[in-house]
Amino acid sequence: ATPMGIMVGTGRGAQLGVLIKSVEVLERTRHISTVVFDKTGTLTRGAMTLTDVVLDSTEEATLLNFAGAVEADSEHPIGQAVAVGARERLGAALSASTDFRALAGHGVRANVDGTDVTVGRRKLMGEAGMRMSPSLEIAATELEAQGRTAVFAGWDGQVRGVLAVADTLKDEAADVVAQLHRMGLQVAMITGDNARTAGAIASQVGIDRVLAEVLPEEKQSEVARLQADGQVVAFVGDGVNDAPALVQADLGMAIGSGTDVAIESSDLTLMRGDLGGVVVAIALSRRTHRTIM
Ligand code: ADP
Ligand code: MG
Repeated sequence: ATPMGIMVGTGRGAQLGVLIKSVEVLERTRHISTVVFDKTGTLTRGAMTLTDVVLDSTEEATLLNFAGAVEADSEHPIGQAVAVGARERLGAALSASTDFRALAGHGVRANVDGTDVTVGRRKLMGEAGMRMSPSLEIAATELEAQGRTAVFAGWDGQVRGVLAVADTLKDEAADVVAQLHRMGLQVAMITGDNARTAGAIASQVGIDRVLAEVLPEEKQSEVARLQADGQVVAFVGDGVNDAPALVQADLGMAIGSGTDVAIESSDLTLMRGDLGGVVVAIALSRRTHRTIM
C-alpha cells in the first residue's frame, strides 16, 4: 500500500520524509506529552543475529538442528536469526519439521525427527512442563544483562539450551531520545522482551521508563493506561502487532520500512525509518501552530 498524505516542512521534515495523513494531525502532535517507542525494529534495526549457544544435556549439533529446524518456519526476527545462525554454525542443512505452531509473543513449537521441540521465552518452558538447570538459568540471566535476548529450546521434559540473539540500536536513537527529553517530553520503551534485556537496551539509549514482557495484545491497553493517567501519547512502531496501539495512541507514528498494517494504522509515517522524524514532527507542530492552524 502506498501511504497518501502530506509531506511536512520544506527543510528537515521533507528531508527526513515525514508524511502526515492530514493537517489536523499536526494539531494533535502539538499536545503530545509522552512518546512510547516499540523496541524491536523501531529503536533497534530489527536485524537480529545468533550470538551465543549454551548447552545442557545435549550436543551442540543436536541443539542447533532442532532449534533451527523449528525456527525455520517462523516469521519472527528471532526465529529467522536462530534458523540462519544454526545453519551457519552447523555447516549443513537443517532437518525438516512438521506440525509447526507459532505462539505469538511466546515462541514456537514443531516436531523434528520425531521429537516435539519447543523454542521460546522462559515462561513458555515452565508452561510446557520442562525442567531447567540452575546453570542454564544463570547463563541466560548474564546474556540478558548484556542486552541480548535469550530464548530457550527444550524437548522430552527438559530445557536443553539457551540461544542468545542480539540486535543493534539505530545510530540516531540515543540522540532522538535526548532531544525529546530536552523538549520536555516523557519517553518510554515498550516490548515483549524480558525486563532484563529491555532494561539494558533502555539504559543504552537513555530511556528510564520501560514496559517489558508486554504481550502483543496488551500494547494497546498499556497506551490506554498512560492516557488514563492524563498523558497525551505518541506511539512509534513498525510491526503488525503495533497496529492496535498505533490506533489507540493520540498520535500513531509508523516506520516507513515497517509493515503495511502499521503504516495504515498510523497518522504519520517516518518514510526513511529515521527516528529524527519524531523530533521534527513535534517541533514543527509547535512552530507551525501560529502560521497554519
Ligand atoms: P517484541 O515486542 O520484541 O517484538 P514479541 O512480543 O514478538 O517481542 O515476543 C516476545 C518474546 O517471545 C520474545 O522476546 C521471545 O522470548 C519470545 N518469542 C517470540 N517469538 C519467538 C520465536 N519465533 N522464537 C523464540 N522465541 C520467541
Ligand atoms: Mg517492532
